[in-house]
Formats: sequence, structure tokens, C-alpha cells
Amino acid sequence: MSTKYVYYFGGTSSDGRSDMKNLLGGKGANLAEMCNIGLPVPAGFTITTEVCTYFYDNNRQYPETLRAQIVEALKKTEAEMGAIFGDPENPLLVSCRSGARVSMPGMMDTVLNIGLNEQTLKGLIKKTGNERFAWDSYRRFVQMYGDVVLGMKPQTKEDEDPFELLLHKMKKKKGVHLDNELDTDDLKKLVKQFKKAVLDRTGKDFPDDPMEQMLEAVGAVFQSWGNDRAVVYRRQYNYPHTWGTAANICSMVFGNMGDDCATGVAFTRDPATGENVFYGEYLINAQGEDVVAGIRTPNKIAELKVAMPEVYQQLDDIRNTLEKHYRDVQDIEFTVQKGKLWMLQTRNGKRTGFAGVRFAVDMVREGLISKEEAISAGRIPPDDLNQLLQPIFDPAAKRKAVEEGRMLAVGINAGPGAATGKIKFYADDAESYVNSFSRDANGKLPEDAQVVLVRQETSPEDIRGMQVATGILTAFGGASSHAALVSRQMGKVCIVGCGELKIDYKKRTVTAGGKTLKEGDWIAIDGFSGEVMEGKVATKPSEVVQVLISKTMKPEESKVYQQFAELMSWADDVRKLKVRTNADQPDQAAAAIAFGAEGIGLCRTEHMFFDHILPMREMILSSNTEQRKAALEKLLEFQRSDFAGIFRAMKGKPVTIRTLDPPLHEFLPTLDQKDKQKEVAKMIGVSPKSIEKRIKELHELNPMLGFRGCRLGNVFPEITEMQARAIIEAACDVAKEGIAVEPEIMIPLVGFLPELKAQVKLVHAIAEKVFAEKGTRVKYLVGTMIELPRACVAAAEIATEAEFFSFGTNDLTQTTLGISRDDYGSFIRHYIENDLVKKDPFQVIDFDGVGALMKLGVEKGRSVKPDLKIGICGEHGGEPDSVKFCHRLGLNYVSCSPFRVPIARLAAAQAVLEEKNKK
Ligand code: PEP
Ligand code: MG
Repeated sequence: MSTKYVYYFGGTSSDGRSDMKNLLGGKGANLAEMCNIGLPVPAGFTITTEVCTYFYDNNRQYPETLRAQIVEALKKTEAEMGAIFGDPENPLLVSCRSGARVSMPGMMDTVLNIGLNEQTLKGLIKKTGNERFAWDSYRRFVQMYGDVVLGMKPQTKEDEDPFELLLHKMKKKKGVHLDNELDTDDLKKLVKQFKKAVLDRTGKDFPDDPMEQMLEAVGAVFQSWGNDRAVVYRRQYNYPHTWGTAANICSMVFGNMGDDCATGVAFTRDPATGENVFYGEYLINAQGEDVVAGIRTPNKIAELKVAMPEVYQQLDDIRNTLEKHYRDVQDIEFTVQKGKLWMLQTRNGKRTGFAGVRFAVDMVREGLISKEEAISAGRIPPDDLNQLLQPIFDPAAKRKAVEEGRMLAVGINAGPGAATGKIKFYADDAESYVNSFSRDANGKLPEDAQVVLVRQETSPEDIRGMQVATGILTAFGGASSHAALVSRQMGKVCIVGCGELKIDYKKRTVTAGGKTLKEGDWIAIDGFSGEVMEGKVATKPSEVVQVLISKTMKPEESKVYQQFAELMSWADDVRKLKVRTNADQPDQAAAAIAFGAEGIGLCRTEHMFFDHILPMREMILSSNTEQRKAALEKLLEFQRSDFAGIFRAMKGKPVTIRTLDPPLHEFLPTLDQKDKQKEVAKMIGVSPKSIEKRIKELHELNPMLGFRGCRLGNVFPEITEMQARAIIEAACDVAKEGIAVEPEIMIPLVGFLPELKAQVKLVHAIAEKVFAEKGTRVKYLVGTMIELPRACVAAAEIATEAEFFSFGTNDLTQTTLGISRDDYGSFIRHYIENDLVKKDPFQVIDFDGVGALMKLGVEKGRSVKPDLKIGICGEHGGEPDSVKFCHRLGLNYVSCSPFRVPIARLAAAQAVLEEKNKK
């Protein structure tokens, strides 16, 4: 039997099911499923993703048997709908809709009203008795087909859509503003003009053959899988380009046949806050695209109760049926044609981090889902928790802005959070502006790089600009417009439908509240309330942060916190990986503990030295051991009290302290900073010349591969001795106070066993001395970072001396890939955009390369010490996919920055569930 390429759906039975998303795409699988559970779906069929893959692999050809399978499915569709495709008396019209296995809102194309030509048009007029409607459908069809299938869509922001131009001229000529104010004759003329535009542009007549229209539309939908915005979208969410999209041929039903017709989109619960209310919007006498395009501002779904009570009741019942069936919040599209309700789509609703957490917690309480399902990655991508930890506007600063008359307008709050940024009107301008800034060592952009994208509405073309923007503000559109959907998914602060904004793209100004702001002016938007304010407004921490860190709110005052805490407790019950934090200061350590950290995985001692830079410089500038020891003596005091502070904050949790790592020149002025050199010379009482000489001596061409890491402690053992003494003395002192301590001393950048051996010996010798002096002992470990390829390969030898390993994946990535962690910014974007690498390897572990070395390191290390404690403290330790990888490798813990601790906790739990589901 030949491969089945076409799956019928309609009536109460279908060839497909909801679990066939890989083959039928999400839309196709769910249309089939809705039929299976008895919901009213216009009949049709799905052409599988395999056909799309075939199409790309075979020079844009279809498989041989496809046409026959389409004809067969079409017959069933015609029988179910009681109309015939291409029939001049009783024509069936269809749409062709894209639908990949995951939803990619607005990224691919759709063609509506396929099957119309001069003959079937007559049939449509006869059937509906509505000539204007029929001509309007034909006008829309020629335009959409021209744009999507015949490639007449504008390519750049300066280009204009030829059809829109003609439409605009016609409206101007007739002195009207809206499309629906044009009469039948105007529409007839427009169709003629549109067809002429097609002939002029393509050199061919507009196609009349319905089957040709359908097959070409399918091809265009497949083609749209490869368009730039779809590619960018897939890259952002890590979806393989090889998946392909399905194409769904659906019988057309019309929401624009009159006032007993409507079309709408809705969520079964509020996707912004998570509240359990029916949430959506509709338009009377309109087509679906009118609602999502955001040109007409739609009515709230609750108003449908009054406008069409029976339909509303049916829809509300469907809302319950769908939630019970899918056990998740659904995002639905529907059309009412002459009083009859049709379901056009259902899918799991995209949601904010806030809503995701609330849905999950509420649904467990309602008995719809288990706790394990609640914490699954499909429901809460770990990075979404960021939104709960994000800052909000400081109410005092906001009140001040209002008092100062800086409140400009209020729109629809579509993506929560607070954003302040410079106004940009075009997505590509926003993109190039933000990309002109470079990130600091922590990956942060400067404040000036913050942009709020201000537009009439956004379209899928704007995705890159939306990605770089801090906030998005649109004048049109509702809570389900493109801007709202995409922002929500990206976790961006977003306000839509802010009708008071008057945007002048030509002058690049926006006017609201009696004020005109220019491009580059500051604007602040509150995605919780929908308020738009002029200028900068200070932000303050989120409720979760207020409860946990600043303690300015009590747990019982914050619902968001309560839900967050409950969900995190479920994650903690499941996960196996421990989660530690990278912290160098007692307050950071305390914050991380509040977020659930179970220890410190990396305390970079050099950060402390920047607070005591003078003795540090004295130490570096010493010309002999005696001088160096004297300077180290001063540093010892500071280090001891810093470590004691951390031990106290960690209350017995393990604290991994790394000995000095960075090249020494980082603590000195540079060669061209003459003034600074003089200043330092004066402060430590040496000549400026000697400073310059020492800087020259320390100069290295490639310092990251130079005199750093354990090489420092091996050449200048007195540095390690001082640090070991500070750690052990602090530990003994704090232990004496009755607080448990668990120090772990970590030697960086070890490649050769003897390097580690020498340092370990030194630490033990000092520890014994201190114990004797203090008359007490504490337990401590000495281990090493594994951050060089050689260390992974020689891990069995290294493990003979190390009591623990911690992967330093920042350096391990740098040294494995031969890519400088400080210089890769100049080419990484090109690499990602051209699929030369899948992801930024300094953010997500390069599983096949760096990951393979880590695996080797774990295996070799544990071949010597089966219970060897192994963690990771590179930046990857807080990135969800990397955390999951670490779980699979069998690490004991991950360590990340304090604000990523909750994310890592959730990812670690998901790793366990994903492993379980695989078995
Ligand atoms: C690492 O290399 O991964 C690491 C944690 O150390 P640093 O970033 O300080 O070099
Ligand atoms: Mg390192």
C-alpha cells in the first residue's frame, strides 16, 4: 500500500488523533480530535508533514499518489458539508492553513476562500443570496492568493502591498474609511484591478482552476516553512528545521455573512494572569483574520452572552469539555455562521510565567492533573519563572510619574512586568540599535540599550525587533493579537490596543496624553496595568523577591508567591540534582538560600580582592617573597572575615571556595593608564617607574591561557597558603560560635596531577597548623575544577588527589572549542543564524563536544572514586537544557547565579520526569 499522505476529518470521525502531531501538525491533529469528541468542526483533511519534507527534498514536487488521495478526501468533505468544490451551482470553498507540530503563531502562511472563480462566484451568490459578501470574498481571495502564493507581498518596510494600495485608492475615491463601506460595484471593480495587477506583475492570468488553486496554495504553505521569520522563530525555540509543516484543507465557514455571524478567539482561562475566567474576544460580521490582525478592536467574550446567548452557552460548554479532555488551558478559534457555531482550532494556550504557574497549581487542586504533570516542561518552561522574579515599577516612582503628569495612556495589559526603554518605531531599527551595544562580563547590556518597540500593531516580520526589545507597545489589537501572543511567549512586557497613541511613522513620533515623544525618547510601560508613561520610571523587585529577599511583603500577602512556593516544593520532591549557587558575598549567599540554594558551588575569591585592591596590588607588585608575604598578611584579615560572613550566612551548607584564578594584571592599571599608575605608586609608596615595569612584566598576549589558575598558587605558594589559612581560620571561628561549617577548597585550572598534588599538600599542611593553633578541627574537602580538556581526559589520575570535581564549563568550552569566551561576540550571531552552531555554546552546553568531555571526566573520575562528588559551576549551571544534561550525566549538583536557582530547581525536576517518561 502506498504511504498515507492525506488524513480526513469531519462529522464525528476522523483518520487522525491528537497524539499524531508529528505527522499531522498540531492544528491537524486537534481538528481530528475535536471531531472525535463530537465538537462541530468544518470538514476537511490534513496533508502530512511528510509531504512537506518530500516537497523540500524533491525540488518542490509532490509525491505521485498525493493528488488521488486529495481527491478521495475531498469527496468525503463534500459529502459532509453538502457542497462541491468547483461546482458552479453549489460551490464548496476551502482554506489552506499551515500547522507544524508545535504552534508558531503567525510565522507561516494561510490562504482563504480557495475554489472561487467567476463561475463558482455565481453559485456562491445564489447560495447565500448575498452578492456583496460573495464579491468581498472573491476580493479577499485574489488579494491573499496574490500575496501568499504569487509572491506579491511587500518584501521591505518601504514596499507597499499592491492590493492594499488599490483598496486604499478606492476608499479614497469613494470617501469612505472602512473596507465594509465599499459596495458591490466597488468590489467588482477592485477584483478586476487586482487581477490586472497580478497579470502585470506575474505575466500570467489569475488561476481559475480550483484544484490548481488548492495545490499551489499547499505549495505556498510548505514554502512558508522556510521563510525568514519561521526560521528565526525555530532557532529561538530550538525546533529542528527538518520537521516540516502540515497543510490543512478546511471547509470555509463565514463569520462575515451578516449580523447573525461572528468570529472570535478565546482562551479557556486568562493567559496573562492565570485567572479561571473565559477570556477572549470576537467581532460580529467579520473574518478570523480581522480579529487577530488587530485592525478593528474586538468585543470581550463576555459580551457574546448578550449578543448571542445560545452560541455563548454552547461555547462555554465546549470550553469545559476541551479543558477536561486536554487537561490544559486551550486557545480556541471559532466562527458563527448564520447562528451555527463552528470550531476552527484548539491548541494548548501560550501563557505568561505567572499564568503557567497559576494554571498548574489550580489544576492540581481541581483534580485535573497530577503534581508531576504540573511541573512538566510542557506546562512551565523553566525560564518562564524569570517573569515571577522580574522587577515591577516602584509604586512611589510610578505615583510620582503620575503626579508629574507623565501618564500618557492606558492600553491592554498583555505581558506582565515593568519595562523602561528608548522608543523605536521599526523592528529592524530596534534590532540594529540594540546590537550596536556590547554586553558586559555578566552578559548584561547597558541601560541605554533598552528599547520599547512602539507600533500600530506588530506582524510576524517584527520578530527580531521584538526579541531585542525590553517592552512592546501597540496602538491596535487585543489580548490575542500577534504582539500579545508573541510577547507573552517571549516573556516580554507588553501593552496592546492602546488606542490613544497616535503614531506618525514618517515623523517618527508618538502622541498621547497631549504630549509628543520622538524616537529615542524614554518611555515606561507597565505590563501589569497597561499604563504608559513618559520618561524613565524606577523599578522594584517582584513580589516573590519581596517576600523572599527584601522581606518587604509577607508570604500571606502575595498569591503569586504562594503559588510559586507550592510549585517549587513539588519540584523539590522530584529532583535528584542538588542546586547550589555562585556567590561571593554574604548577601548574595542569603538571597540564593531564600531562592532554595543548597550550598555555594563557587565563591570566586578574586571578587573579594577588588574590595581590598590596595594590599592586593602591593602583593602583586612585590619584588620578593618577603614583601609578598607582608602584603598577603594584610589580605588574610579581609579574607578571613569575608569567609566567616559567608559561612554564617550558609549555616552549615557546603561552601566551595576557589583559590585565586585570574591573571594578576587584572588587578593593576593598564599600560596606557599613566594617571592611575601614578596614583597607585603614591598609595603604596613605590615609584611610578616600578609600577610600569611590573605591568610590562605581567603583560601577556593571551592571558586566559597564561599565568592564571593553579599556576599562580604553584609559582607563588604563599598565595594559596594565605587563602587556605583564611578559609580554615574562618571555619574554626564560626564553628566555635556554634554554627556548622562545611568548607570545600577548590583548585582552579588543573591540567596535570602534580599541579593539584602540590596545592593539596599545601592546603593540608596549613590546615593542620591552624587546627593546632586553634585547638580545634573542622571537616573540609580539597577538590578541583575540571575546566581543561586534559583534566577530563586525565580525570582518573586527578581523582586520586581530588575529593570532589566541579566542571568549569566556561573555561572548558573556551578551551575545547578554541573559542575565546571574551571575543566570540563578533561572530557568534553569524554562526547561529547560519546554523553553524545550534546554540550559543557559552549559554547552552555543547553536548556533543564539551558534553562528551564532561562524560569522560565523570566516568574516569568515578572509576577511581565511585562516590566522587561532582558538580558544575560554569554559567551553564542555571540553563535548563544544560541542567537536564547534567542530570543525565549523574552529577551531584549544579551551581548558578542566585536568580537562576528556582529555574535550575524546576529544570532538575523536569529532568527526572523526562527520564522516567523515556523508560
Ligand atoms: C568556569 O570556567 O566555568 C568557571 C566557573 O570559572 P570562571 O568563569 O571564573 O573562569
Ligand atoms: Mg574558569
